[in-house]
Amino acid sequence: MTTSDKEFKVNKTEQEWKEILTPEEFNVLFKHGTERAGTSPLDKEYGEGIYECAACGIPLFTSETKYNSGTGWPSFYKPIENAIETSVDRSLFMTRTEVHCSCCGGHLGHVFGDGPKPTGQRYCMNGVSLKFQPKGDK
Ligand code: FE
Repeated sequence: MTTSDKEFKVNKTEQEWKEILTPEEFNVLFKHGTERAGTSPLDKEYGEGIYECAACGIPLFTSETKYNSGTGWPSFYKPIENAIETSVDRSLFMTRTEVHCSCCGGHLGHVFGDGPKPTGQRYCMNGVSLKFQPKGDK
């Protein structure tokens, strides 16, 4: 099953998402695009706060689990419980584990097994798929 034919809690048509999101957000979140490494300001963000889905707004990661992977993409070792789902991605002649938002199905990035302790996981995220909410701002 692909994310496009699964029912999510927030279930909008492509046209509806296009009206809310920037072209780059739409391309990454709903066309499985990848932002260029090093282009997201969130890659260098280490303040305290919550990283939310740029499409539907649910909390996905906390700043405590963010680390510098050196890849140029915002990286985390653990998502917030039940916030994300994964699927198998066989594009680009590789088998990777794709990560998407459990609420809207928006594509976030991929997860790899070369992360730091305690999980050993590296959630390699597109910064455009995330919105950072600094602590105390809400
Ligand atoms: Fe979402």
